[in-house]
Amino acid sequence: MAEPTYDSAHVPHAAFGCDVHTHTLFSRHAYSTIGECVEAAKAAGLELLGSTDHYSCMTSPSLHVRDYQYLINLKLWPRLWDGVRVLHGVEADIVDLEGRLFGWNVWLREGITGRAFRHETTLKDYVWRELDYVIASIHDQTFAEGATLAQTTRMYIRALDDPKVLILGHPGRSGVPFELDPVLRAAKERGKLIEINEHSFETHYGQRTKTTCMRIAERCAELGVMISTGSDAHIACEVGRFDRTAALLHEIHFPRELIATRSADAFLSVLHAAIG
Ligand SMILES: [Zn+2]
Ligand SMILES: [Zn+2]
Repeated sequence: MAEPTYDSAHVPHAAFGCDVHTHTLFSRHAYSTIGECVEAAKAAGLELLGSTDHYSCMTSPSLHVRDYQYLINLKLWPRLWDGVRVLHGVEADIVDLEGRLFGWNVWLREGITGRAFRHETTLKDYVWRELDYVIASIHDQTFAEGATLAQTTRMYIRALDDPKVLILGHPGRSGVPFELDPVLRAAKERGKLIEINEHSFETHYGQRTKTTCMRIAERCAELGVMISTGSDAHIACEVGRFDRTAALLHEIHFPRELIATRSADAFLSVLHAAIG
């Protein structure tokens, strides 16, 4: 059987050198350790793995700082782990129409040992201090019910304004309609990324979600907006799997140079330009 061929201007599967949306056991409905995810990334031929556990009420309804210890000690992970570059991130929930991110209003007086801080800080600032980047996503859209498109559009733009937010996570399947062009233009102006998320093509999300994702990708191509691809793996064997994303991008002749996750160098240069 002949090998599939691709037009070099488009998107071969091997174009994805990075998986920057993955989950470990910390997310609680995910099943692998960071070590297993790194091993899977290496086996999948990835150059770079971004670990982005949920940072939301999903991991701790109590909002206690001790429930977030995992995320504040990530510096222990080797930056180059078994030949794979490892980045530290979270997938944070957008929690209101102001585009604010989970934990912004949870004030802490003490750290994990119980020792008092000299100055109060928020859970968000404390947990995010040493993260490389954040994916901002919506998982519970009830706060946006009845909102106007102007409000939801502004919400996404405000989320992109957060200095640590690099990627808008799966906007094609969050169930919150918004005006596409202003959000995409805002991402472009800030050097930030719109995610095309592999998990959005699961059959239970239906054809409508796929159509929305395709429309978003097409408009990114037309406006010159960079995208991020992520497996959204919740188990190690899904790390580096982008089959349906690759097929969609190939189908619409998406330009390779707009895929920030095509290589580690490309992603790191976008990250450093946008976040420092
Ligand atoms: Zn999840
Ligand atoms: Zn998500």
